[in-house]
Amino acid sequence: MLMSPPAPVASLEALENPGEFIPRHIGIDAADEALMLSVIGEASRAALINSIVPRAIARAKPMDLPAPVTEAAALAELKVIAGKNQVLKSFIGQGYYGTHTPGVILRNILENPAWYTAYTPYQAEISQGRMEALVNFQTMVCDLTGMPIANASMLDEATAAAEAMTLARRSVKSKSQRIVLAGDLHPQTIEVIQTRAAPIGIEVLIANSQQEWEAALAGDLFAAVIQYPASSGWIADWKADVEAIHAKQAAAIVATDLLALTLLTPPGEWGADIVVGNSQRFGMPMGAGGPHAAFMACRDEFKRSLPGRLVGVSVDVHGKPAYRLALQTREQHIRREKATSNICTAQVLPAVIASMYAVYHGPEGLKRIAQRVARYTAILSRGLAQLGYAATHHDTAFDTLSLHTKEATNSIAARAVSKGVNLRKAWDEYLCISLDETTTRADVELIWSIFAKDGQPLPSIAAMDEGRPSLIPESQLRTSPYLTHPVFNTHHSETAMLRYIRSLSDKDLALDRSMIPLGSCTMKLNATSEMIPITWPEFANMHPFAPASQLQGYAELDQQLRDWLCQATGYAGISLQPNAGSQGEYAGLLAIKAFHESRGEAHRNICLIPSSAHGTNPASAQMVGLQVVVTHCDEQGNVDMDDLRAKCEQHSANLSCIMITYPSTHGVFETQVKELCELVHSHGGRVYVDGANMNALVGVAAPGEFGGDVSHLNLHKTFCIPHGGGGPGVGPVCVVEDLVPFLPGHATAGDARKVGAISAAPLGNAAVLPISWMYIRMMGESGLKAATETAILSANYISTRLRDHFPTLYASANGHVAHECILDLRSLKESSGVMAEDVAKRLIDYGFHAPTLSFPVPNTLMVEPTESESLFELERFIDAMIAIREEIRQIEDGRLPQDDNPLKNAPHTAEALLSGEWSRPYSRELAAYPVPALRRNKYWSPIGRVDNVYGDRNLFCSCVPVEDYES
Ligand SMILES: *Cc1c(COP(=O)(O)O)cnc(C)c1O
Repeated sequence: MLMSPPAPVASLEALENPGEFIPRHIGIDAADEALMLSVIGEASRAALINSIVPRAIARAKPMDLPAPVTEAAALAELKVIAGKNQVLKSFIGQGYYGTHTPGVILRNILENPAWYTAYTPYQAEISQGRMEALVNFQTMVCDLTGMPIANASMLDEATAAAEAMTLARRSVKSKSQRIVLAGDLHPQTIEVIQTRAAPIGIEVLIANSQQEWEAALAGDLFAAVIQYPASSGWIADWKADVEAIHAKQAAAIVATDLLALTLLTPPGEWGADIVVGNSQRFGMPMGAGGPHAAFMACRDEFKRSLPGRLVGVSVDVHGKPAYRLALQTREQHIRREKATSNICTAQVLPAVIASMYAVYHGPEGLKRIAQRVARYTAILSRGLAQLGYAATHHDTAFDTLSLHTKEATNSIAARAVSKGVNLRKAWDEYLCISLDETTTRADVELIWSIFAKDGQPLPSIAAMDEGRPSLIPESQLRTSPYLTHPVFNTHHSETAMLRYIRSLSDKDLALDRSMIPLGSCTMKLNATSEMIPITWPEFANMHPFAPASQLQGYAELDQQLRDWLCQATGYAGISLQPNAGSQGEYAGLLAIKAFHESRGEAHRNICLIPSSAHGTNPASAQMVGLQVVVTHCDEQGNVDMDDLRAKCEQHSANLSCIMITYPSTHGVFETQVKELCELVHSHGGRVYVDGANMNALVGVAAPGEFGGDVSHLNLHKTFCIPHGGGGPGVGPVCVVEDLVPFLPGHATAGDARKVGAISAAPLGNAAVLPISWMYIRMMGESGLKAATETAILSANYISTRLRDHFPTLYASANGHVAHECILDLRSLKESSGVMAEDVAKRLIDYGFHAPTLSFPVPNTLMVEPTESESLFELERFIDAMIAIREEIRQIEDGRLPQDDNPLKNAPHTAEALLSGEWSRPYSRELAAYPVPALRRNKYWSPIGRVDNVYGDRNLFCSCVPVEDYES
């Protein structure tokens, strides 16, 4: 087709087309929109929105955002901001280290939409590739820590340590409420533990000397936390201490380093009960603090209380090994107000990368890297001693030296910076130096030159290497093998690695193959231009605790993004520190709690939560020590205002807050939301608006304007950060003016406030913030508003088109929905035996990822198309759903048996269709190609339906046995 040239009178602006990204992001064009509106029966998009969004809450004025710019212009502008970060060579350590991301992993995972656009693996059959990678991660953590079971990632090391604290509290026999921390933990870990302990009445005792430590262990405690090697680098033998801890019926929690454990006796071999840490240095750049996959491993008895996601090995209907998420009944979405952790989105993509780093290097490669780091450290130490700076701590170290530099501390640190090097200043008069995989001979010499006094000759590497020095104590040398499974010993050439990565991603369905219409999760476009900046060295290679003067680019990014998000939400203040929605909830509730306390109303501890809420809401409330009172929903799915009024009255004196989701998780704009906010305020309570559904609000209505006091956003839903197969996320916490003083601070990074750190790093998952920045910059006010309106349009189109096949459960009085719709499948059980899950699995045969299954209403599917899908793709989905409804009708009519039909047997594998006799009462063609288009483009499920019960009964969470693996 020939393009018609622009009209000769086009303005220069139109020719330049600054808004050119908007139609790249929004999949519906003007012609499609007109057609869709006619089906819905509305005259214009504006009329549709006016009939859906209650006029009482419509925005008073548009968002004040910079006008949209092109992809190229946005990248150029961000490059200037990135350039304000100064990338020095960092030897700060403290949990963050230089690493080389292998190119094959960088390009084929971190930069590959097949991996980064995948969803959390709730639909096991289409997630086998990423779950194999996660099982590799779990196996790697188990092997290196010497523990029997590990989960599939935690948000960061500090929050993992805090979760270990509560896991210990509920698992040990000791009745104590005291936890003892070795003073030589990373300071951010201490800070986050303190933040998390306070609201649940746990006393934190920090032991800053050997005497204090011994006295603390002799006293009352339920757990003690040790860092191994310590933050200062010291490698101690903790065996006797662990025995003393166990004698108190208490738990030994160990924070550790995976690279060090390739050489050191693992904590599991000296009695640790829970082991946590961060896998960052296995290939993930420092990124100013995240995202990285932290980990948690524990003893077998604790596994049913282990927080976070756990991938297990089960079997499919054909008896073949199959991965799926295990022990889901532990999780917040099931346990709700009885939950002990609120983790939902975790750090899947970084966990996949860390696991692949281990697969690529293998045990020998990892060991060589670790030995090199250890040798450079020993050489550095010798040379420094020769220059007059003896390392402290018993002459033990893996990668970190602490030097008592006394009054010279500041001048040496300043000299280091002048030579392009950051050292860590600690405990007033010490300097710490941490080496890593990227360290070279030249680096060691550079560090010597910083410490050498004028004219002092520098040591020579060769001389210092004489006798192959080691600072790892003989008694702590590891003797046990690790990573013996074939997966860690096979893919060591780049060709083999490339094909392994490809073979896994080929098993999975991500946004690069089809729409993922997941209600509440907003699987929209993650544009390539948005992804490009995250690996720029100016963002990727920054240490989170570098001096503020070097982090100016991040500071500007933080400031602009917060300003823009304030515009989008109507709030006065925002913190980007929370690294998932759940963490934003936690920070928001802490702010409310601190607010009440500041007014002498610490007794306000009741949190009202409607029954339709997402599981993280009651779980977060529980974690900040609030008492959850569930309020009812009425027939239409709205908050039951009479019940709410009664509960407000009943708890008036003690009301802390309400947590609502808006528009509701039922996919409806409740008209009485303003009234609801006023009611809660009139009883002295605050209103928490869960912002997961902001994709229905941006540019149209603002929670900070219609009565909300606090919200979290999910930048990994509304603002284009990809899901990564279940993380990373960013969950900014947004508040109104009087709550701004209670946003989380970060004393470790020099920002002490009333509420302490809730994440290890001051900007949380800082390195993915450029994604949301790019999105807002390229869309501007008009683009963002159009995105919201189109998302609502598309949801209404699907709801209308499927009305006669799968009715929408909840709608407003005029029949419209918000940006998602719940398809009601509940009557099908009676008529055909078909459950929503069967439809979800049958959709796989049609090449789709299922919508959200059974949330918030059991046996329903919640569909959220987002603005990014084209009408073509919406029609493909609608056609599939209608065809599936026809299949169900055949069951209802008795033409197909209830227990043997294309739905119950879905998904169909190629193997099942090709092998042996076909004895089903329907054809192979119907099984595989129910609509003709599938003959041109077919996704084949690699396994049949997974048996969940078998997997939980026979819990196995490591790499499958070698016989199965190789078959
Ligand atoms: C996704 C979601 C959350 C939790 O956010 P995470 O980033 O997964 O922690 C909370 N509430 C609702 C309604 C959600 O959809």
